[in-house]
Amino acid sequence: MAQVYERVALIGLGLIAGSMAHAMKRRGLAGHIAGFARTEETRKAAAEIGFVDSVHESAAEAVKGADLVVLAVPVGAMEAVAAEIAPHLAPGATVTDVGSVKQAVIDAVGPHIPEGVHFIPSHPLAGTEHSGPYSGFATLFENRWWLLTPPEGSDPDAVARLRALYEGVGANVDTMEPAHHDLVLAVVSHTPHLIAYTMVGVADHLRRVSQSEVIKYSASGFRDFTRIAASDPTMWRDVFLTNKDATLDILGRFTEELFVLQRAIRMGDGDHLFDYFTRTRAIRRGIIEAGQDTDAPDFGRVRKG
Ligand code: NAP
Repeated sequence: MAQVYERVALIGLGLIAGSMAHAMKRRGLAGHIAGFARTEETRKAAAEIGFVDSVHESAAEAVKGADLVVLAVPVGAMEAVAAEIAPHLAPGATVTDVGSVKQAVIDAVGPHIPEGVHFIPSHPLAGTEHSGPYSGFATLFENRWWLLTPPEGSDPDAVARLRALYEGVGANVDTMEPAHHDLVLAVVSHTPHLIAYTMVGVADHLRRVSQSEVIKYSASGFRDFTRIAASDPTMWRDVFLTNKDATLDILGRFTEELFVLQRAIRMGDGDHLFDYFTRTRAIRRGIIEAGQDTDAPDFGRVRKG
């Protein structure tokens, strides 16, 4: 595949940056990949794994001469990083971020971006519950969505080039308004994570149960919640602090629906429960038809024969 950027600087070297680097290397999309992470441990790991060509002691050093800079740190850390790199950005460079929330990142990072540098925020709808430099892999973005939220008046060539990179790593690219992005993500990702954290927390509060039976007998429902609830605490703290309104809106709707289901159970309203579950099953079918998940039983954990 043709090279899209000459020099890419990755600020943060965890799951998302590592996966981007592996994918860019595999497909020849970047001439040189420079990396920076906050701790010596992560910088050493990235150099050892070899998904970066150079590792730098500071973000300011890493971005020098880069035509693409990717901010891949927790959302709450974006502003400080942007302030540090701003004076060192090359004219004509593009800065993007991969944060899970868009409006808050735009508000925090945007004011630091100098004239002549393109700021095109983005978010890959791909991830796992693992984090850190060892968790990345080249196929993470394949057939996953990568949303761009370019501000009005963004340079179309800069947007097209970033799109080409993301398509190059196998993603499907779409553009969205930042506020709309945050609402959609509150539905499909942020609130479900909060519910998973809560469900696992409930089991934890019932310590007598959670110490033995819950783990011993954990079946797919609870087990799937625990997978989501194992996600990085820093990242998710920042998501809820910065996508507050949309998450609270969806959480309000969720609690209303929960009360309706609770009442149906109390009243023995089997028709209501059946109709509700029939509708939700159709949504699962839609996700599989859209190629966003496997239809193998229990997410492919079941091995037949
Ligand atoms: P990660 O694996 O935990 O890596 C985070 C990186 O950011 C690490 O290199 C870490 O450095 C660095 N970092 C952490 N706190 C920092 C701070 N205060 N200042 C500077 N650097 C800091 O995280 P990730 O999953 O790649 O997530 C990165 C971004 O992608 C987040 O904004 C997240 O919202 C977004 N995202 C995540 C997923 C997902 O499923 N994980 C999906 C889509 C988007 P050290 O290792 O040296 O501490």
